Amino acid sequence: MAPTKIFSSYPYSARRRRWLGMAISALVLGAWSAHAVSREPLPVVATFSILGDMVKEVGGDRVSVTTIVGPNTDSHGFEPKPQDAKALLGAKVLVLNGLDFEPWLPRLSKASGFEGLSVLASAGVKVRHMADSHQEAAGKGKGKHDHAHGRKQAHDHQHGEVDPHAWQDLANGMIYARNIADGLAKADPRNASYYESRANSYIARMKALDNEVRTAIAAVPPERRRVISSHDAFGYFGDAYGVEFVPISGLSNQSEPSAQDVARIIKLARETGVSGVFIENMSNPVMAQQIARESGVLMGGTLYADALGPADQPASSYLGMFSWNAGRLVYVLKQSLQM
Ligand SMILES: [Zn+2]
Repeated sequence: MAPTKIFSSYPYSARRRRWLGMAISALVLGAWSAHAVSREPLPVVATFSILGDMVKEVGGDRVSVTTIVGPNTDSHGFEPKPQDAKALLGAKVLVLNGLDFEPWLPRLSKASGFEGLSVLASAGVKVRHMADSHQEAAGKGKGKHDHAHGRKQAHDHQHGEVDPHAWQDLANGMIYARNIADGLAKADPRNASYYESRANSYIARMKALDNEVRTAIAAVPPERRRVISSHDAFGYFGDAYGVEFVPISGLSNQSEPSAQDVARIIKLARETGVSGVFIENMSNPVMAQQIARESGVLMGGTLYADALGPADQPASSYLGMFSWNAGRLVYVLKQSLQM
């Protein structure tokens, strides 16, 4: 007997047929959604490499992550390509930093027709403003160098005052991880407890690293913890761990520093205790090298600011990057103590 004949040739009542139809629909739907949960990972787009790694840590094998701004690439001046719109259109979740870090995103999002869930990773962090660091510098008696003030005057007309680099404090990384887990759970409720437990273990690793970084930096006298960085990406790190970063460029890395900026920083480096000059992985090192040469200050090497390193390098993950940056800083600060 062919199964297709059940409804046409047997004298079932209309009610019974309806029940049978519903039972079959439920079976089919159940099988379909079980398939979707067990076999098809949730498609997620992350705006840049650091968030991409965080989403992989929290989402594990239940997500497939596409990262728009890849390793060693600067998000501030990024220009999306057609494949980015395609990836976004196919995604159920978009994870973004916010705080003006992705100025290219609203246009891309609109152009792609993305209709999924947007997760603001930085939601709930205590946002750093340029005005805060200015007041703080003055309050600590460092106002005489006037670098914060000069920086603000030079750059805030272009970039606004919000500092987007919140991931450079592990306490904020923990907030990001929690927001990502909540977002994934909202888009994919069946795996909510999986995401939560992965976020918990990730956050535990962040806490352990946070303690290590604090202990390592505490070994250097506070007045010797001043370094020069390429752009103003380490304000959160500085506030959290007690290191003063003097940036060559402003918050967005998009404007070339003026000759006066560079002369001011060289003067500062010569006259006050700057321990090292650092370059960063996603921007041109020439200016930093010039400042190190002309001030005679130690060249400190590379810090990872706004992007991870490539897959085969120690800074290819958020925790790897953080550990590298802290290790590099402490090494250079300690070296300068012996000079
Ligand atoms: Zn930046």
